Amino acid sequence: MTTSYDVIVVGGGMVGSSAALALAQQGFSVAVIERQKLAGEPMELTEAYDLRVSAISPSSQALLSELGVWQEITRMRSCDYHKMFIWHENGNSVVRFASEQLGLAHLGTIVENRLIQWSLQQVLQGLSNVHFFTEQQVVHIENGSDEVQVKTSTGRFVHAQLLIAADGRESSVRNLLKLPVISGSYQQSAIVANVSTEKSHDNTAWQRFLVTGPLAFLPLSNGQSSIVWSVDDDQVDKLMDLSDTAFTEALSAAFEFRLGAVTQTSARAAFPLNWHNAQQWLQQRVLLIGDAAHGVHPLAGQGVNLGFADVALLKTLFYGQSAIYQPRLLRRFERQRKAEAASATHLFSLLKLLYGQQGGLICRVRDLGMSIVDANMMLKRLIMNSAVKNMA
Ligand SMILES: Cc1cc2nc3c(=O)[nH]c(=O)nc-3n(C[C@H](O)[C@H](O)[C@H](O)COP(=O)(O)OP(=O)(O)OC[C@H]3O[C@@H](n4cnc5c(N)ncnc54)[C@H](O)[C@@H]3O)c2cc1C
Repeated sequence: MTTSYDVIVVGGGMVGSSAALALAQQGFSVAVIERQKLAGEPMELTEAYDLRVSAISPSSQALLSELGVWQEITRMRSCDYHKMFIWHENGNSVVRFASEQLGLAHLGTIVENRLIQWSLQQVLQGLSNVHFFTEQQVVHIENGSDEVQVKTSTGRFVHAQLLIAADGRESSVRNLLKLPVISGSYQQSAIVANVSTEKSHDNTAWQRFLVTGPLAFLPLSNGQSSIVWSVDDDQVDKLMDLSDTAFTEALSAAFEFRLGAVTQTSARAAFPLNWHNAQQWLQQRVLLIGDAAHGVHPLAGQGVNLGFADVALLKTLFYGQSAIYQPRLLRRFERQRKAEAASATHLFSLLKLLYGQQGGLICRVRDLGMSIVDANMMLKRLIMNSAVKNMA
């Protein structure tokens, strides 16, 4: 059995689902191939927060609003943060951002990944021009001059004018087509958990740069904080194996008791940290977006925001277009987004390196830089504007 569409989107994660919705709302027929089941019913509001959350920037929120899902997401549960507080374990410099000083309603919003995915998939399922092929993955791709054809692991053949790969950092589409990618490991992992603290998180995104890596406390609407603690690979198992009591003690100390003691923790999970940039995002009728195309250090909370910026540009470029396969527009997309994603990767790697220094001239320059930024409202606006726009 074969089926033909304007676009095949491989990967129904946050980025793939938003791309599918953006294009379906413009009238294109869309097939979404996703190796898992559709995101299940979202949790009851009393259920514990999921461990995977993201800081969603105002420009990503604008995209999700245009797609008609942001209101539902915030109705379910989310937490705006109005302040950011950044400091280093060595030195006295801090950098503070406050939304009111910068003329913004908030600096960003913390949302569970699964809630974003579920909201997008709910809307997609109600559209007659969208078809899901779930619990199957792409095993073969014919990227021809007239169409692209995909064979899935259940033996289905799906045809389209364009294939958009949003199948994450280990992208099978990228691998099947042998698209070149450069990558590196930070030789660190990020430990994530949801924790309770003695003091209120004060709707602030807190980040302490330790020489060993950044430690973030992100506010959740239930009063807890989602922590992202980057640690060297040889320390991960040690921290993961600690009892809850020993872990919360180590975490409280690493965070300098900024929110008092950490009193309770959820189960923990660890994610290896690396970066990558596909060197070719477009091959004839196949286009990479999201983590399939780029991956950055989570220290700036920009990974999925960069993916949403990919979708926002696709949406703009194809607005009012009747044909989806337009090499000129696709090349323009690749040029623009590839350059922006590469700058983001390098910037976050540089920040990681800069904040990992223990002493010497670099540290003095870094601390001076932090003091200058903290004292200068115009610089703060510039930095926040570029973060808010996801480097666009
Ligand atoms: C600890 C940590 C904290 C982070 N915090 C933030 C943050 O605060 N803000 C932020 O912007 N980013 C953050 N990120 C990054 C963010 O999680 C990723 O950038 C984002 O999940 C990428 O979304 P995606 O849809 O491109 O890929 P994914 O989320 O990886 O989704 C890929 C989808 O494709 C499906 N799939 C995979 N292979 C196949 C296949 N062969 N066939 C069919 N389907 C397939 C998968 O099942 C999945 O549904 C963080 C990352 C980490 C590790």
